[in-house]
Amino acid sequence: MLLAVAVLAVAPVAAARTPPDAEIRAAAQRIAPAVVALRRDLHAHPELSNREERTGHLVEERLRDLGLEVRHPVARTGVVGILRGGRPGGVVALRADIDALPIEEANDLPFRSQTKGVMHACGHDAHTAILIGAAEVLAGLRARLPGTVIFLFQPAEEGAPEGEEGGAALMVKEGALDEPKVEAVFALHVGGWTSMGQAGWTDGPIFASSDTFRIEVEGKTVHGAQPHMGLDPIPVAAEIVQALQLIVSRQIDGRQPRVLTIGRIQGGTRFNIIADRVTMDGTVRTHDATVRSEIKARMARTVKGVAEAHGTTATLRFLDDGNPPTVNDAALARAVGIPALERVFGAGAVRVEPQMVAEDFPFFGKKAPYFYFLLGTRNDAKGIASVNHSATFDVDEDALPLGVRALATLAWDFLARGGVRR
Ligand SMILES: [Zn+2]
Ligand SMILES: [Zn+2]
Repeated sequence: MLLAVAVLAVAPVAAARTPPDAEIRAAAQRIAPAVVALRRDLHAHPELSNREERTGHLVEERLRDLGLEVRHPVARTGVVGILRGGRPGGVVALRADIDALPIEEANDLPFRSQTKGVMHACGHDAHTAILIGAAEVLAGLRARLPGTVIFLFQPAEEGAPEGEEGGAALMVKEGALDEPKVEAVFALHVGGWTSMGQAGWTDGPIFASSDTFRIEVEGKTVHGAQPHMGLDPIPVAAEIVQALQLIVSRQIDGRQPRVLTIGRIQGGTRFNIIADRVTMDGTVRTHDATVRSEIKARMARTVKGVAEAHGTTATLRFLDDGNPPTVNDAALARAVGIPALERVFGAGAVRVEPQMVAEDFPFFGKKAPYFYFLLGTRNDAKGIASVNHSATFDVDEDALPLGVRALATLAWDFLARGGVRR
């Protein structure tokens, strides 16, 4: 009897402070079949960057059914949902990317891609379904929700078609984080970096920057027997390839992760004709904004210098603005991100090494601090082990309710704390 009285006395305070973990868990479990069904529907109907018409309309419809305010289209085909909680508080955003890739699916699944040459090979179908699931869970707790949650469904993460704007940068430009003003953004990426049941986090860099470049070396075509009569761009291009590797290996602090890859070289027409030009495409990646600009400046100097040494010209062009490195806000990670993942995943919440892949998510960081984590969807026992962007990529769908719980918990915790002091 004494015990019962004591419990009654503390109950109201506890109810206000204790996060609704059990309710979030139960709701995520209850809607899991619907989340899986939605993921399969999206998987069967993949759409390329900036062409996510069906996906955008489907997302809009789901959010309206949940009673959210909806803005659509944003950034061409994207959707923003707004859930205003029953209690006053701050504003937090959760983000999913929604686009697919120009890859022909090689999986033999009942819900395999029905669009030839297009596939959800990066798992954005899972991201979209998980975020709809998180919206449903949080909408169910709306009366007690201490603030506002913004749901960002972002197109064109894989890159807008040439000549078009798109992706996270365009969502920011169109004010997706401005009204109401977002104070923090959370997002996840599925993949084989960690296994099903795990979540990978960092409290600093997690993904790299990426910059795509093109180098053109000018030559003068002539018979292959008389190179001295013309100007052979092929050995000059070869020297540029080597010299660029010396930037990353000899000119940048060895403690800084960085990669420079030339993935394509094209030049010449025949074995005995000196080529008139050589074109090379590549990517450069790092985890640090200063190193990123340093490498880019040194590349320009090297390309110009090597070409000049051989009496020719070469141009270096970065094809777009590139992606900044994805660097988690340390204070947000420690105060909200990591503790939330530890409650959802237990011992499965693991620190991971930063990866050299890249994301356009950090553009949201221009407006608010963020925390980005990896949702493990690999399951070797089920034969789900292919890497993102491969024709056999798949996710273990048992991870989807964990993703729903994680995003809902992160949003709740941030709002319940009333923000994070840095
Ligand atoms: Zn991708
Ligand atoms: Zn992706």
